Amino acid sequence: MARTDFTSPRLFIDAPLAEGARLPLDSAQANYLLNVLRLAEGARVLVFNGRDGEFATSLHLASRRSAALAVGARLRPQETAPDLDHLFAPLKHARLDYMAQKAVEMGARRLRPVMTRRTQASRVNIERLRANAIEACEQCGVIWIPQIEKEAPLERALADWPADRLLIFCDEEAPLGDPIEALSTVGPRGRPLALLIGPEGGFDDDERAAILSLPQILRLSLGPRILRADTAAVAALALIQARLGDWR
Ligand code: SAH
Repeated sequence: MARTDFTSPRLFIDAPLAEGARLPLDSAQANYLLNVLRLAEGARVLVFNGRDGEFATSLHLASRRSAALAVGARLRPQETAPDLDHLFAPLKHARLDYMAQKAVEMGARRLRPVMTRRTQASRVNIERLRANAIEACEQCGVIWIPQIEKEAPLERALADWPADRLLIFCDEEAPLGDPIEALSTVGPRGRPLALLIGPEGGFDDDERAAILSLPQILRLSLGPRILRADTAAVAALALIQARLGDWR
């Protein structure tokens, strides 16, 4: 795999990418490159669209406020995320922004907000989730765009759960157990996975019973302390990627 260039700025542009193409920038993109990053004529910018891989481009100023990118060589072929769904009870505002960004950095392919009895947020701003996910992709070199699903009630998310997808249920009431050992029982690596993290108030007993009644469940303890939901998500994603995902 080509070495990832972490020094040049990276931009998501939802347009076909091919060597020789010319990408006009919208005002927000032009402002970001010209005024925020203060890039000069000819500056190197990496571009991805989530479909065609990552390309080197160079910046061409049309005027003080408008610019375009000339697409050069493809640096990385398109990559796909590990087949990992992240189901989570949406938190509020900045904490939800954080969860979206960390899920992308940790390699989730789908973000699936689920509404549980004790979920604080009443609805989820999907566009805000998507914007946070794209920003995380640009910053951490992810060139696939995670799928962001509309919020769904927990019972609907669990209904007709696909037989081949393991649901790793982080249960704050699970008996203490070795999470690496637990994850090792469910190989092979690369199988479809999902992670479920509850709300600040945790799961109620009916929800817990419904979740545990699914055949494809792995109940996971994340240690002897109660973690905040956004901490638990990152901790669980690290364990999963290390033992079953693409950290190996
Ligand atoms: N009712 C508690 C738990 C909420 S923690 C409280 O109000 O503090 C939020 C979510 O993070 C939980 O639903 C669970 O998915 C996860 N989590 C936190 N600590 C955990 C642990 N020690 N083991 C497993 N999951 C945990």
